[in-house]
Amino acid sequence: KLSHPYPDWPAGALTPYGALVKTLTLVEGTTKRLEKLSHASLLLRQVLRLTPDDLLTVIHLMTNKLAADYEGVELGIGESLLMKAIGESCGRSMDKIREDQREIGDLGMVAMKSRNNQGTLFKPKPLTIKSVHQGLLEIATVKGEGGQGRKVAGINRLLAAAKGDEAKYLVRGLEGKLRTGLADNTIIVALSQAQIVHEMEAKGKKASVEMLTQAELKLRSVFSELPSYEVIIPTMAKYGIMELDVHCKLQPGVPLKPMLAKPTKAISEVLDRFENKRFTCEYKYDGERAQIHFVSPDSSITYPATSISATTSATKGITKIFSRNSENLSNKYPDILGVLDTWVKPGVDSFVLDCEAVAWDKEEKRVLPFQQLMTRKKKDVKTEDVKVKVCVFAFDILFLNGKSLCQETLEERRRLMHASFTPVEGEFSFATYADANDLEQIQVFLDESVKASCEGLMVKMLDGEGSRYEPSKRSHNWLKIKKDYLSGIGDSLDLVVLGAYYGRGKRTSVYGAFLLACYNPSNQTYETICKIGTGFSEVNLEEFHEILSKLEIDKPKPFYTHDGGNKQQPDVWFEPKIVWEVKAADLSLSPVYQAAAGIADDRGISLRFPRFIRVRDDKNSEDATSSRQVADMYNRQEVVTSNGKKSKGVD
Ligand code: ATP
Repeated sequence: KLSHPYPDWPAGALTPYGALVKTLTLVEGTTKRLEKLSHASLLLRQVLRLTPDDLLTVIHLMTNKLAADYEGVELGIGESLLMKAIGESCGRSMDKIREDQREIGDLGMVAMKSRNNQGTLFKPKPLTIKSVHQGLLEIATVKGEGGQGRKVAGINRLLAAAKGDEAKYLVRGLEGKLRTGLADNTIIVALSQAQIVHEMEAKGKKASVEMLTQAELKLRSVFSELPSYEVIIPTMAKYGIMELDVHCKLQPGVPLKPMLAKPTKAISEVLDRFENKRFTCEYKYDGERAQIHFVSPDSSITYPATSISATTSATKGITKIFSRNSENLSNKYPDILGVLDTWVKPGVDSFVLDCEAVAWDKEEKRVLPFQQLMTRKKKDVKTEDVKVKVCVFAFDILFLNGKSLCQETLEERRRLMHASFTPVEGEFSFATYADANDLEQIQVFLDESVKASCEGLMVKMLDGEGSRYEPSKRSHNWLKIKKDYLSGIGDSLDLVVLGAYYGRGKRTSVYGAFLLACYNPSNQTYETICKIGTGFSEVNLEEFHEILSKLEIDKPKPFYTHDGGNKQQPDVWFEPKIVWEVKAADLSLSPVYQAAAGIADDRGISLRFPRFIRVRDDKNSEDATSSRQVADMYNRQEVVTSNGKKSKGVD
């Protein structure tokens, strides 16, 4: 029911960047999700009507991505480089820019202010969606000598052509976050609505509410198996949204967001959850999630192009490994890719396996701790230089010989997996499992898993609807039991480092303690949860100082939620880039920390006795433990109430 945000441009002409910026401004200006959705959907309809070829690029810029995650093209330009570019493009000194940033705390606003105060001598050509995308892509992919200078020059060019609010969103985009509160999920809904309305309009009809719902369900389910607008948008244009599932299915080369598990604190909890159901227990290996995609070069099946740069379809012969974040790990694990085809039984020409890559002791023939895996180089690994050998433990198969298996039961997927591969000692193995079903059997299996250097168990529904593979979901149908946490809070947390406190005594040359936060995806903020100074070795502290000092910023970002004016203010603030795994004795309500405030209680929640466990560089800061998860953990524990009494939290 909202009015149109931007006047029409001539049909077929390039979509003005101003149209997107106008929409983003309206989206940012409301806190209501449905209004955000309507604004986004209106713009997409307009693009579909006037310049449908721009739709993919508009979606990319709306989600602040330049390409699908698996292409590894990232923005996230540091604050100092951006300040330099803003200064240069607006003819202002660095000191002035720095001063504004200290005062305003939002570089996007600083850029806008600087542009608005600047008299323009010439009228630059208006920015279009395509020119902005192209410009950002060049900035993100600049490499080699003089790279920094070329980046700054690229940013200058874009800023010089920016009008009004455009500079604000350009800079925020370059920083890596648009902060309009438009969740990726909402964009999927907006796109489905725009598309079905557009299709019906073309037939001279109106889309009914029922149709809107059906279209949304269709796009959602297709996107969960094939998270690639690169494939989906052209297919949708060709066949219509209601036919999407016929033409778009899981496809090797496009990583799925993996299925995740819910934590449990006790084996009895597992039995309650799976009462009267068939379930299975597997070792929970402690390594790195690896989604392995394979298509034999001789395969007769071809797949649509999945890349922004590819112009032809037909992708043949794929061997790739993706992380839990859909990052391409192929040049981290050439040793695995080199031997992949030797595990495959005859007759298998394509597959997607869900696995854990684990460090392996060749002499002792056993799994090594996660820390060993961390010592491997992260990029450009050469097989002949590999010191830490890796064994792949496969626990699921999602695609086989041209067919998606996500809708099959786990029992069937497991059968197919075992029938299609041959284990090779120290290279490839199936996850050890037992169909244990009473408390004692599970306890015995848990002990065995720990003896085999695993973290504990994964317990999974074996048959029925609940055993389907649910991409990107933290599902109740997968439960994890970690040995260490049975007596504690049920799980560790993965938290973002937002600030630090200078060290004292022996630690004066490094940071001595850190301020950590969880992530709240509903409003895209980081909410502080604790100060941590325990669990670090001297070497850790030196290394973290080295890494984090490069991420220092002058002022907390406007999307950090931390109670000001108290003694817990850190000495320095950082860009939100680093994620650490942390254990704690328990969670308690806090007058200072803001984590999950308004979910479990009006007050925030904090960790008691937090202890550093390890760096989680397989997680982005947006994959950190969410505020909702923190609230769930708090509710599920025996909490000490403010009057000191023990009370059981609500589940
Ligand atoms: P964490 O790894 O700290 O437990 P997470 O958020 O990365 O947390 P979870 O869903 O909590 O993911 O735990 C599942 C992870 O355990 C998977 O991402 C995978 O890397 C690993 N894993 C090890 N063994 C298995 C298995 N048999 N089945 C499923 N996942 C397994």
